[in-house]
Amino acid sequence: MYLLEGKIIAQQEKKNIVDTMRDYGITPGLATILVGDNPASNVYVKAKIKACEEVGFYGEHYNLDYSSTTEDVLAVITSLNKNPEIHGILVQSPPPPHIDMVRLVNAIDPLKDVDCFHPLNLGKFFSGQSDFAPCTPTGVITMLDSIPNFSYEGKSALIIGRSNIVGKPMAILLTNRHATVSLAHSRTKNLDIYLQKADIIIAATGQAEMIKGDMVKEGVVIIDVGIDRVLNPITNKSRLVGDVEFESVKDKAYAISPVPGGVGPMTIVTLLSNTLKLALQSISLK
Ligand code: NDP
Repeated sequence: MYLLEGKIIAQQEKKNIVDTMRDYGITPGLATILVGDNPASNVYVKAKIKACEEVGFYGEHYNLDYSSTTEDVLAVITSLNKNPEIHGILVQSPPPPHIDMVRLVNAIDPLKDVDCFHPLNLGKFFSGQSDFAPCTPTGVITMLDSIPNFSYEGKSALIIGRSNIVGKPMAILLTNRHATVSLAHSRTKNLDIYLQKADIIIAATGQAEMIKGDMVKEGVVIIDVGIDRVLNPITNKSRLVGDVEFESVKDKAYAISPVPGGVGPMTIVTLLSNTLKLALQSISLK
């Protein structure tokens, strides 16, 4: 079994980023905007800021109160759109329910849309005009590309979860690499049949350890995007798991990513590489 250690692959990617920065003499700039005090969002934003610092990016980080309005956040975005030191703008999801995320995403300059959520960028990506794509699925592809003797062509790929940030763009990326893709979700009937047939499984449901060893076929390549918490009722402590029951699946898999230390670090490093791409693009547009 080949263990897809995102942590290690991400380190190599960071080295490549630093080399490119040196070669081009540029300092990419990333701005993060966090509204409210969602503990998980706080952890994610902190990890992103730390990664920026590690590679020597310029960073601006805005922590807005829970009571901030959509207009308040739009004002920050408008000012960042004009800031030449900032090449990527990220609004951490989910914002508080009173914030209109669609308006925020649409207000980000498409040339600074580091998450690739703006409809213009998604349109270019879906129509094959650009390979700039959302961070998590791009990170998953980097992981899959690192597997020795692995090919996508003609493989049966099952993605479970159809969100705009993971499942749907993942389907495009795998289709472009000539896999035959099934995109499953909570209304999918007979998921077990799809699971048994799949050569590649990307699990992105948020359902703790829903995929077990007896559900998948021998030699499967399985990427676990899920970040889920399960509570031990005896100790009352929670632990981080994925959508895949790692222990029962690992011996059947040709390659598998763990949680934690799998897709999480790949999402963060792809955020860095997307920022770098936008910074390089800004030079070429000058
Ligand atoms: P969403 O909640 O937006 O989507 C979840 C998807 O899973 C939906 O399409 C839903 O179906 C489907 N689903 C839920 N339950 C089942 C089930 N029992 N069987 C089949 N499909 C099911 O989540 P995200 O895409 O944002 O995230 C998914 C997971 O990935 C979460 O755990 C999240 O924390 C994690 N994540 C991890 C990242 C990382 O960097 N490691 C980055 C982003 C997300 P339906 O559409 O019908 O409701």
